[in-house]
Amino acid sequence: MLETSGVLDKFPLDKFKDECGVVAIHGHSEAAKLAYYSLYTLQHRGQECAGVSTWDGKTIHTTKKNGVVSDIFTPEVIKGLPGSLAIGHTRYSTSGDKDEMNAQPFSVHCNKGLIAVAHNGNITNAAELRKHLEDKGSIFQASSDTEVILHLVAHSTEKTLKDALRDALLQLEGAFSLVFLAADRIIVARDPHGFRPLAMGNLKVPGHPDATVFASETCAFDFLDATYLNDVQPGEMVVVGPEGITRERYTPEKPRAQCVFEHVYFARPDSMVFGRPVQTSREKMGRLLAQESHVPADIVVPVPDSGNTAALGYAAEANLPYRQALIRNHYVGRTFIEPSQAIRDFGVKLKLNPIRSLLEGKRVILVDDSIVRGTTSEKIVRMVRRAGATEVHLRISCPPTVSPCFYGVDTPSKRELIAANKNTEEIRKFIGADSVAYLSMPGLTRAVSDEVGEYCYACYTGNYPTDFVNIEQLVKAGKKAGIETP
Ligand code: AMP
Repeated sequence: MLETSGVLDKFPLDKFKDECGVVAIHGHSEAAKLAYYSLYTLQHRGQECAGVSTWDGKTIHTTKKNGVVSDIFTPEVIKGLPGSLAIGHTRYSTSGDKDEMNAQPFSVHCNKGLIAVAHNGNITNAAELRKHLEDKGSIFQASSDTEVILHLVAHSTEKTLKDALRDALLQLEGAFSLVFLAADRIIVARDPHGFRPLAMGNLKVPGHPDATVFASETCAFDFLDATYLNDVQPGEMVVVGPEGITRERYTPEKPRAQCVFEHVYFARPDSMVFGRPVQTSREKMGRLLAQESHVPADIVVPVPDSGNTAALGYAAEANLPYRQALIRNHYVGRTFIEPSQAIRDFGVKLKLNPIRSLLEGKRVILVDDSIVRGTTSEKIVRMVRRAGATEVHLRISCPPTVSPCFYGVDTPSKRELIAANKNTEEIRKFIGADSVAYLSMPGLTRAVSDEVGEYCYACYTGNYPTDFVNIEQLVKAGKKAGIETP
């Protein structure tokens, strides 16, 4: 367990803070179309760019672009992606690297053949591995951590692709759920802690052998009419090829560290994540939140969509009406003509509008999943008050977010996290609510039924489940810059 401090804020290991979704399809004549449908359901995991690679028996075809899935994959584009094997990726990055060059899948032609990869997670030793590879002559096309994996495969002295992949995976640290496409086969793998999800399913194809599908979340399987079988296990590699399906542990499993934030915010409530329905977890979070911190009120209002399910649980437990008194505009595009005269809270107004008749004269319990910087919450609380609420009590369905994530969720540095710098009363004042309360840590572990400690809670505790390989360099760099470490 590693304690981090200011040095990591200055020299972040989470340079590539992509939030992503991945899919893979094996054995379907319309593999690209199925990958497109799957990515469409995983759009919430990343809206910046998306890509699909297919294998047609001879070569790999790839289309990847900035934009949302439905805009990129027109019928013509899908026609240009022939074959019965496909992998796909959708990505969101706010860390500055919005270059299309970083869109995935990445593909190479190396001594192990043609191979493409897509990745969900964050490889914490990517910078170190990249430097080492560059010293040995590798030339990188992008700045994403994922490309490192392909270079490791190319450099491996192992003879077969599977052995070279194992060799590469054993050098990675951090979080990775990976899907690979190669001649005649799909290979998928998860890191030994199991940070990010990856589910496996089966699809009946009339008159043909069943197809095998993989996706970050099971909502993709529902769309395809596929059956969810189980999860790819932490430290497991699954190969689906002409010989059938083989599953093997490429490395012993390490203490599990499934990302609890998938259940708090990230995944869709209609998905199973880590074998558990997200809806169940979120409703329980809301119920426990009500048990822990209820105050007299008239209605429970969710901040849509992130607070919807927890608010349902809260309202049921508190025996109060659940009112959708904030209406979300789902069609806010990537660009919008900014007003020349300042409109107060323009950004939030673009997305949300209150229903005055529901809020006027009411004491409101406002439920959201998390407070990050606190700036949105402050605007929403003001909006609810201006619509006539007499009291606004903000309830958050997870503990205070006090530490950045190094495993694939885009949380900002400690400096920007309001709960890392203010106590709950100071946050209440900043946000302008009548009261603020968070779900407790025991409440969160109960909500996800984590009896044996299988989840990562680092964003709430600052205790990271992996040692960062380059911590020594970071500490050295920190000392040089005059930053103290414990
Ligand atoms: P803030 O104003 O910074 O406190 O933002 C809070 C809002 O951001 C909440 O409504 C959350 O649902 C949402 N949120 C929390 N974490 C993330 C994330 N990693 N990516 C995008 N939105 C998030």
